[in-house]
Parts: sequence; C-alpha cells; structure tokens
Amino acid sequence: LDRLRGGFSKTAERVAENLTGLTSTAALDTATLDDIEEALIASDLGPEASRRIREAIAARRFEQLDERGLRTILAEEIEKILAPVAKPLEVWGFPRPHVILVIGVNGSGKTTTIGKLGRLLKEQDYGVLLAAGDTFRAAAIEQLKIWGERIGAPVITGKEGGDAAGIVFDGVKQATATGIDALIVDTAGRLQNKSHLMDELSKIRRVLGRLNPEAPHDILLVLDATTGQNGLAQVEVFRESAGVTGLIMTKLDGTARGGVLVAAAEKFGLPIHAIGVGEQADDLRPFDPRAVARAIAG
Ligand code: GDP
Repeated sequence: LDRLRGGFSKTAERVAENLTGLTSTAALDTATLDDIEEALIASDLGPEASRRIREAIAARRFEQLDERGLRTILAEEIEKILAPVAKPLEVWGFPRPHVILVIGVNGSGKTTTIGKLGRLLKEQDYGVLLAAGDTFRAAAIEQLKIWGERIGAPVITGKEGGDAAGIVFDGVKQATATGIDALIVDTAGRLQNKSHLMDELSKIRRVLGRLNPEAPHDILLVLDATTGQNGLAQVEVFRESAGVTGLIMTKLDGTARGGVLVAAAEKFGLPIHAIGVGEQADDLRPFDPRAVARAIAG
C-alpha cells in the first residue's frame, strides 16, 4: 500500500492543496469547485471522471463537512468509478488451456507482467506455460526465458523472426499434452507498424480459433502508467485493432500519474485485472478499488 501511495502521491498532493484549510463545505463556492475539478484533471483523472466527482461534491456542499469529510466523499466517488471494472483474472477456459494474449507497446512492461502474472497463477495452483510470441526481438525471447526460470514455468520459443502463430499453435498442443491450465502469450508491440501488428494478431487468433473457438479467452493490454494520457490513446488504438478484453496497468510505483487509472476506468469501462507496482515477481497486485481511491484522496 505504501508503494501504491507513492504512485498517487502527486495526485493526492494536488487534491490536498485544494481541500486543505476548508473548514466547512459552505466554502465550496463555484471557484473552489472549479479548482478541485482542475486539480483532478491535472492529476490525470481525465475530464469525464473529474466532472462527475465535482458534481458529486457540489451536490453535498450544504452538508456540514470538514476537510476530512470532503476527502471521504472524494474517496467514495473515485471508488464508485473503479469498483465496476475491478475484476481478477479468471482461468475459466475449458477444455484447457485458458489462453491469454498479452499485448502492448514495447517498454510498457509486457514481458515483466507476463512473468508476474505467471507467478500469480502458479500461486493459485494453476499450471502455466509461457509462449514467446514476440519473435521480432531476440532480447524479448531471452527475457521471457529468464522469467520462466524465475517462476518455474516452461517457456515455448521459436526462432527470432519466426512465425508467432506457429509458436502459439505449438503452445496449445504442448499445454494440452502436459495438462497446463493457462497459456500466456507474449506478442510483438510495434504500434508504429499497425497493419503488420494487426495481421499478426489476427493470424494468431485464427490459429487459436481453429483449436478452440473460445480462444483467446483474454486479450490483455499492458499500459504504462507513467505515460499518462498517452496511455489512454493506446487503449483506443488497441481496442479497435486488437479487441482488448482487459487491462493491466504497470509502474504504478514509479509514477505520480496513477490518476490515469481512474480516467481509463471511466472512459473505457474495460476490466482492470491487476496493477504492477515493481519489477519483482511478486509485484503484481490485485486491483483494490478502495485502496486506490484512498491513496488518491489522501
Ligand atoms: P516490454 O518491452 O513491454 O516487454 O517491457 P519490459 O517488461 O521489458 O519492461 C520494461 C521496463 O519496465 C523494465 O525495466 C521493467 O523492469 C520495468 N517494469 C515493468 N513493470 C514495472 C512495474 O510495475 N514497476 C516498475 N517500477 N518497473 C516496471
């Protein structure tokens, strides 16, 4: 929770500047409400969520509320936005394996997240197989192998520059043969070459669909919280081109821009399955709307 607080420190600070010293909500005139709304927008909560929160606060301005009371309202409103999208990832696919495609731009923390997610599922006693579908970077294949060793999960790899769909095909076959529950697939993250990326993803999906019409069961987009509003643009692009089913936001420990989590929840309504708060194997945490809301509201 401390790390989480770090991730929202700037957001909380800005909000605090506007709430501190307010002794009663009678002081909540339009100018103050404007300031609060602006602080929320400046903290990356996005215009939609900020307006909604402003209105909720305005509606209660005749109550006897001090600064603490206002913070409580703020936390409640943020939690209301976050709660509907907080959904742990479930391994429901049957027949096995449950197939999870992981997508996102390079550097977003995709490979690290796959390692951490693998660890999380293994802790829940699921058998996990990782597939190195990002065949464009030799380093990505190597990195995934290292994660496999670290968490004790097998990794299926091909040649650099090889066919990603082929590796996924082999992955399903191996998973089926060895009783693996979840197959987690790394994919190439070249947003700059969108049509190629789409071709590759649709080929993977075609191959998977032939093996099991329900696969892939999840298409997870990994978002780097430090990219702020830019990350939201990525959601839009990937949602259209790749059919994203859920989000994992990373680097919430290393940023002051955690407010973007609220913006994403309000704007897209996509499930947020977990959050990344560090580079170690156990640094993927369940997304707890109440804890996040309290960290932001201070
Ligand atoms: P990829 O290119 O999308 O596969 O990204 P990587 O998984 O290689 O991650 C890029 C960098 O971000 C690496 O240095 C990771 O250690 C780091 N990283 C990933 N997730 C987190 C996180 O939740 N917190 C922090 N602080 N760093 C992270």
